[in-house]
Amino acid sequence: DSLNALLAAIRELDTARHELAYGTDGAVVKIIDFAQRETLGFTSRAPRWAAAFKYPPEQRETLLKEITIQVGRTGVLTPVAELAPVFVSGTTVSRATLHNQEEIERKDIRLGDTVVVEKAGEIIPSIVKVVTEKRQPNAEPYHLPAVLNHQCPSCHGPIEQQSGFVAWRCTNFECPAQAVTRITHFAQRKGLDLDGLGESVAIKLVETGLASSPLELFTLTLDDLANLLLDPAKSSDGLTVSKERRFGEKRAETLLTSLKRAKEEMPLHRWLFAMGISQIGESGARELARLHKKLSDLEGSQIVSDLADLPDFEELQKSKRKKENHPRLQEYQIDDNLGPVAAQNIRSFFSSEAGQTVLQRLNDLGINPKSDNFAPDPSSTEGLPLAGKTFVVTGSLSAPRPEFKKIIEAHGGKVSGSISAKTDYLLAGEGGGSKRTKAESLQVPILNEEDLQELLGEA
Ligand SMILES: [Zn+2]
Repeated sequence: DSLNALLAAIRELDTARHELAYGTDGAVVKIIDFAQRETLGFTSRAPRWAAAFKYPPEQRETLLKEITIQVGRTGVLTPVAELAPVFVSGTTVSRATLHNQEEIERKDIRLGDTVVVEKAGEIIPSIVKVVTEKRQPNAEPYHLPAVLNHQCPSCHGPIEQQSGFVAWRCTNFECPAQAVTRITHFAQRKGLDLDGLGESVAIKLVETGLASSPLELFTLTLDDLANLLLDPAKSSDGLTVSKERRFGEKRAETLLTSLKRAKEEMPLHRWLFAMGISQIGESGARELARLHKKLSDLEGSQIVSDLADLPDFEELQKSKRKKENHPRLQEYQIDDNLGPVAAQNIRSFFSSEAGQTVLQRLNDLGINPKSDNFAPDPSSTEGLPLAGKTFVVTGSLSAPRPEFKKIIEAHGGKVSGSISAKTDYLLAGEGGGSKRTKAESLQVPILNEEDLQELLGEA
């Protein structure tokens, strides 16, 4: 009958579709009679007179020869299956992403396994499962960090798995696989604020081999930069040719000036943020800079080590009383912006081979950034008008926010990035909507600039 004929037609198409010049993954069945279509009408989303049939994807067995690791531009390590080439859904497949260690464990994929491959959505090759009956008796479970000996395959820097994430990442500031991302982060306004060095220029610097890590920027010459080719001369119609575009002398001079400023004047906290060590944001970097006089002091820092080794920080976080009574936290009065995980990252970076190379390079370049908010002993702020007070700054004020941070810190106060019940004051300019709302709900007093002056006794 007609239903059987319909199914036969779908099956016939399943064979024929592999000869088509384009990929297909299903068939659409439609009612031909327009009068019947009229009667059936539409649901809110689709017509009732048409339905899609999805073919199950074609699956093939092949051998998993090796697992290679790709280092992404943000340092994420992605395991990739290298397969004995196999023809699936119209093309030869020899590689498939394994996503991450968790996925490998979930499917229990081991080197030398026979695996079933398909193309998801008929496009992206993926490994469906292992044919365990064909497994070699000596096949061992695969563990990415162990196979890599806890080192990035691109730069041998330390790798880590951030809590809450499945991916392993290379944390080395100088990793060449991450050059563009690292240089862009280094140069951004909140970092070392290098004029004219955005992502597109970073890409060209890396492509041309002029810089493969942030610190190599300091060896660039005026000539190197001025001649950096941004766009080659192009012809779209074969008649006219557009002019090539180079970085140019003027922009080169500006960039060199800001590199000089970064080298000689940028304070420690800006450098620490620019180095992109995982879990070190702007506020954490400031807190580190409050506790250290210069960058080289972070290597082997006792404070960092003490914090990294705090045994029961999670517990301490839960209990305000315990936290206040903890001798180390009390001694340094370390705020919530700098926790043990960040401290562990700092410690493992500076003690790693990659970290040692960075310190050596900085030393060779004559760079050792100094703290501009060094105040490790909270008792030294005693007697200052804002001693022991925590501020959050928001909205647009009469001067840039960092200026107000400086003023607050110079008077013994601390500046934090986010509002909590422990915040003493919100300094708010025009706008600053969400922080203002939060401050109101937590009954944190909101100050304007005049109120701050009054607190400082300067009104
Ligand atoms: Zn690396």
